[in-house]
Amino acid sequence: MSAEDMLYSQGFGTRRVCAGLIQRGSLRVQGRVVADAGQPLALDGLQFELDGEAWPYQAKAYLMLHKPEGTECSQKPSAWPSVYTLLPAPLRQRPVKGSAPGVQAVGRLDQDTTGLLLLSDDGTFIHRMSSPKRKQPKVYEVSLKHAATPALCQALLAGVQLVDERETLAAHAAELVAPQHLRLTLLQGKYHQVKRMVAAAGNRVEGLHRSQIGQLKLDEALAPGHWRWLRPADLAALD
Ligand code: URA
Repeated sequence: MSAEDMLYSQGFGTRRVCAGLIQRGSLRVQGRVVADAGQPLALDGLQFELDGEAWPYQAKAYLMLHKPEGTECSQKPSAWPSVYTLLPAPLRQRPVKGSAPGVQAVGRLDQDTTGLLLLSDDGTFIHRMSSPKRKQPKVYEVSLKHAATPALCQALLAGVQLVDERETLAAHAAELVAPQHLRLTLLQGKYHQVKRMVAAAGNRVEGLHRSQIGQLKLDEALAPGHWRWLRPADLAALD
């Protein structure tokens, strides 16, 4: 792939803009300026610098974000800043064939929910990860308003009836870590599911944090609002 096409594919602007960046001497590969926009680059394991900032070439982008409180998982948020504003512009601009540019969140978390959010520009991955058929466990750390007893877990495991749901919904796992700290694992991803299930079981969610999807845990080194690329082992943990 030419240097210009490579930069374009990574979201650094139109081909014209990318050619301009290269002509200006902004692109370096292995420490050397690549000044010819047409120069072919080997993409396998390619690392490059653009204006001194290091980037890995990623054919498709897969990321985890530590979603902070007070952000919406929407491109057009209604009241709070969008989680997409936490990402660098190239990740929001990467061209995607047949779809809107940039990475998209895999499912949504509420404005006041924190924790693990996956984003990608791979439509097949997003579709696979969000399919209800997949029944991928999602682990939530729930702060409860009222001190609970194991009866709360039993009720959630047995299944609760939510308004607008035909069938009762049951937790896959429920553990009372402390009287006001519930660890809940769900296999579905219905609207406000944790909050509605906990309310239906007679308590109230005061704080909600997603700590795990499948076998993939939120990286503890990631502060709220920060993101990182998924590594091959992370992707394997989602299979
Ligand atoms: N369940 C909820 O109630 N809210 C979330 O953000 C995620 C799961």
